[in-house]
Amino acid sequence: MNAEMIRFGLKITDFDWYWEYGLSLDDVIEKLLGLGVRFVSAYNKYLPGADSAVPTAVPAGGAVFNDRAFRDKLRKAGIAYFGYLNFGFHEDGIKKCHNYAVDQAGKRLEKIDWYIGACPSSDEFVRSRLSVLEEAMRHLDMDGVHLGFMRFPGFWELALPGTFEPDVWPEYCFCGRCLAAFSEKTGIALPRGNTAEKAAFLRGPARKEWTGFKCAVIRNVIDRLRSCIRHCNKDALVMLNTVPFNAARYGSGGKDFFGQDITLFSDVVDVFEVMGYHQILAQPAGWLTETSNYFKSLTDRPVICTVQGAALYTKGMHAGKGRLENIGPAEFEAALAAVSRSRADGAAVFTLSDVFRREYGEHDVSFGNAIRKHFAAP
Ligand SMILES: [Zn+2]
Repeated sequence: MNAEMIRFGLKITDFDWYWEYGLSLDDVIEKLLGLGVRFVSAYNKYLPGADSAVPTAVPAGGAVFNDRAFRDKLRKAGIAYFGYLNFGFHEDGIKKCHNYAVDQAGKRLEKIDWYIGACPSSDEFVRSRLSVLEEAMRHLDMDGVHLGFMRFPGFWELALPGTFEPDVWPEYCFCGRCLAAFSEKTGIALPRGNTAEKAAFLRGPARKEWTGFKCAVIRNVIDRLRSCIRHCNKDALVMLNTVPFNAARYGSGGKDFFGQDITLFSDVVDVFEVMGYHQILAQPAGWLTETSNYFKSLTDRPVICTVQGAALYTKGMHAGKGRLENIGPAEFEAALAAVSRSRADGAAVFTLSDVFRREYGEHDVSFGNAIRKHFAAP
């Protein structure tokens, strides 16, 4: 892989900007080149987004965005195209495959705000995601796939400072299938009793083996998806959405709760994309430096860090929790600067719409200037 390819990217979660500002695809490509964009991670009609903290709008009148034309123009411009696959965040798939995740008390994970996560050990569910991915690769000949929600469930965005308590934080998954697979893989028999009693054993004396099992489950799914991706395009890259839990602030939470072992995954992931959403976690912008460096210390693979283009989780159940209410030009630049002075190999901004809204909606070029200042192409 060419290191320049991942130096700077944008996540495209919606196409509202396309309809709203009347830009042609050529206008957009020119803008991206001017910002030094080397890759985009995008939803498309084969890999559709679902409303998360960022809702997506569909234009009236039945107009459609031409994913293939956009992809081809990006290729011509030398910008890599990663399709964004929501792996575990897929409500319809969960309903169909009935792979509801179960916590340490034996309670099924219900939707919280916009979030629901799948139990990843269902073969039927994994196969259904594989077929979606294959279809997308076939139609769009993507340069890579950005794997999102590739983990055991958990609403990590709620882990505000001082609130991440491993003893009470909901852990997944203790469904019958996961418990049986654990015993089969490790040869460790579970105690008799209800789910809570078995979970207490796994989270206590068997913690190491249980965490190891969870990380192996996720690695195995990534490996299967990667084989499919490589079968379609032998050079395609796998980028992983990485929960930004650095050890200094969240202990072993990234592995224990989400089953993400960066070192273990290093032979099946080409690029780790750290979700450096500092405002969501109510951390200072400078935290992005230590977090990027932490993930770099775990792997020889490239690591990039994403920064937010807008404040999120400030309304409804998330209001009044101490998060910054706004990400203005100074905060945005501070975040980019923090990544730039870390050992990360690149950065991305979540989302392209936030950058375009500044420029075309508010006639404010400060975000674009900050990007060029810290991540301009050489
Ligand atoms: Zn399960």
